[in-house]
Amino acid sequence: MAEQSEKLLRTLLGQGFEAYWVGGCVRDELIGRPVHDMDMTTSALPEEMIGLFQHTIPTGIQHGTITVMLQGHAFEVTTYRVESTYENHRRPDEVTFVKEITEDLKRRDFTMNAIARAVDGTYIDPFGGQQDTAKKIIRCVGNPLERFNEDALRMVRCVRFASVFGYSIAKDTWKGLLSQRANLEYIALERIRVELEKVISGNNPLRGLELLSRSQLLDFAKIPVLSTRFDRDIVMGINKVSLEPICLRWAVLLYAGRFTSEEAGQQLRKWTFSNQDKDEICSILRLDEQVKKRIQIQDIGIAQEERRLSWIRLVLDSGRSTALNWLKLQRTLPEHRQSFPIEWLDLFSTWEQQMNIYQLKDLGITGREVMKVNNIPAGSWLGDLLQHLLLSVAAGIVDNDKNGLIEEIKRVNMNHG
Ligand code: ATP
Ligand code: MG
Repeated sequence: MAEQSEKLLRTLLGQGFEAYWVGGCVRDELIGRPVHDMDMTTSALPEEMIGLFQHTIPTGIQHGTITVMLQGHAFEVTTYRVESTYENHRRPDEVTFVKEITEDLKRRDFTMNAIARAVDGTYIDPFGGQQDTAKKIIRCVGNPLERFNEDALRMVRCVRFASVFGYSIAKDTWKGLLSQRANLEYIALERIRVELEKVISGNNPLRGLELLSRSQLLDFAKIPVLSTRFDRDIVMGINKVSLEPICLRWAVLLYAGRFTSEEAGQQLRKWTFSNQDKDEICSILRLDEQVKKRIQIQDIGIAQEERRLSWIRLVLDSGRSTALNWLKLQRTLPEHRQSFPIEWLDLFSTWEQQMNIYQLKDLGITGREVMKVNNIPAGSWLGDLLQHLLLSVAAGIVDNDKNGLIEEIKRVNMNHG
């Protein structure tokens, strides 16, 4: 990818334009983090770029951004620009193209994000970004108070970078943030959520949450929840949870915030999660509630088999992926916060792995066939009976073949008179 992006820059240079790598990729390379997208900036105007490259997509042409496709890679190239007046503490829709790279760098949020790198390896770094990255400091370009006032999202970005990189925040930048934090109410929750997700995807979510808590930023974003209620021990373990699926990290976060599954659902809706993501997260918390209710550790009188059947029933009800996610969640909790001793979790895992089927559709007999056997009209009995067969097969009590299942139906009928 680096090779193709260099070719792109050289093409622009060859036509007499200026062109640099800029922003996240320059920063990440400097501090030795994996580079995920190679953004570039140039003095060429969007229409000039379109004329120059064979495959371009006008991604954000009114903001000067063109996507150039080169040998199977997509690169975003943006014309040097400044942003016009900011309204409602958000980034404006209108921009003005400029001729000087330093003008463009000046509009960027933090010194570490305002460095350009030329193809010959030299840097344009008018605000001391290299020095700040060496010292692990996040510092606004220019006057922090003004920069946070212009665009309130920068405050959450500031906390995100501090948390993900483990950087400290320059004193005047932090002071500026505190003075402007109320403006966060103007920013769409969705954009704040994206930043928050990066915080919990990073290595030190606790640091991010503590900074959010100390600054009370989330209170001003109308999501006060996490600022006070989260359990530090649990948050500290979030980075042990796999990033795939990311819903698991959200589940742990909400768990650390002592949310019930219902409260979590309301919260996630407010945070503009899709229904699918919301359900995925809530189902983990719901299963947690049910396991605790139905399988209690104090019940020493209960036979192990009864416990196994309860667990299998819960796996069938919640779905296998939810059950596996719940097990992962439990295993990442610090020992003194675990609802079940580790031996129990091992047992749950084993029982889950030994299940023969996980869904009704895998049952060796259909509802229609069951009705034929009993020869009575469908009613609630049918669902109950199918669930019974599913559990029996899943638990290995009855074989999943038609004859065996018909035998079981007859046995149940006998027992019910
Ligand atoms: P990431 O690693 O998450 O992609 P990034 O710094 O590259 O971090 P982007 O959103 O990709 O973040 O933005 C690219 C660059 O655009 C930034 O490095 C920064 O120079 C500039 N930028 C992004 N958002 C803002 C903002 N709200 N205000 C000012 N400059 C910004
Ligand atoms: Mg980026």
